[in-house]
Amino acid sequence: MSQQCAFISQLSNVEEQRWLDKLNAKLSNAKVVLAREMSLAEKQACKVAVVANPNPKSFADFPQLVWVQSLWAGVERLVEELDEPSFAISRLVDPMLATTMSEAVLAWTLYLHREMPKYLTQQKLAHWQQLDYRRASERTIGILGLGELGLCSANTLVNNGFNVCGWSNTEKFIDGVDCFFGKSGLDKLISQVDILVCLLPLTSVTKGLINTDFLVKLKQGTSIINFARGAIINHNDLVDQLNTRHIEHAVLDVFEHEPLTRSSDLWKNPYISILPHISAPTHLESASDIVSQRIDDVISNGVFPECIDIAKGY
Ligand code: NAP
Repeated sequence: MSQQCAFISQLSNVEEQRWLDKLNAKLSNAKVVLAREMSLAEKQACKVAVVANPNPKSFADFPQLVWVQSLWAGVERLVEELDEPSFAISRLVDPMLATTMSEAVLAWTLYLHREMPKYLTQQKLAHWQQLDYRRASERTIGILGLGELGLCSANTLVNNGFNVCGWSNTEKFIDGVDCFFGKSGLDKLISQVDILVCLLPLTSVTKGLINTDFLVKLKQGTSIINFARGAIINHNDLVDQLNTRHIEHAVLDVFEHEPLTRSSDLWKNPYISILPHISAPTHLESASDIVSQRIDDVISNGVFPECIDIAKGY
């Protein structure tokens, strides 16, 4: 008999069913079932779970869990809300996700590079003015985070002629990218970028990292793209720096509380472009290929994929 794998989420019923159908069509030795439809005995015997934004309290019903696979790349809520979990956690690592993110990074870098926010303002004023053109090679794009998404985005920017540098925790060597790491490396990156792209995980270290102290060290006229998590930026500090024109423009795809409330002043700020968390959505088809393969590997062969380091938070 195939082993049961719990699906624990706060997705809509329709979304849950889509995932179940896809995963079960691809699994050979396991069956994914909705946690709420499992009996108490089934929950207590269950060793493997797939999760999407789960309520952390749900895990109390699953004392035997050894491995949990998230359908999202960011797992900060699980890390924050589960106190020393007894099971290992894997996050989604999917080349399709990295390609999707790199496309968004390129699109919004070009938006800033080709002065679209300024031309939008000029259009509203019926003002005809040609701004000076700078070549891509004359712009330095700094990427915070050189992991799955940052690395792919850095390569895409290099291939499109930009001058690219990046920052990570540990030392890296990437062709065509000036790599900095650790605390001391951050100041070196900050002093040279024209556009800063944030692709860091949200951890106790990165929370509020982009605050006034950080922002004032950026060159005057730098723009920022945040495609990671909202709480990495202190939005009040950012707005101050945008309004004094030290920071030129911010493209924000992520917010501490989503959806962003209608009453938020961020909507009205002319120096901010707001996106509804769409830079890199999980792709059902490719993510279910990866997740089903992982479930089969764990259940049939006892082979576990890479898991997050709870102490580091990512
Ligand atoms: P990842 O592979 O874990 O990469 C994280 C990178 O950040 C690594 O290079 C890591 O350095 C670096 N880093 C972490 N903490 C750091 C610190 N304190 N100082 C310097 N560098 C640090 O993660 P990923 O798959 O690229 O995803 C990044 C984030 O993107 C996710 O956590 C998620 O929040 C976000 N995301 C957003 C969307 C969206 O639609 N907006 C979609 C997917 C993901 P090392 O390499 O040295 O460890």
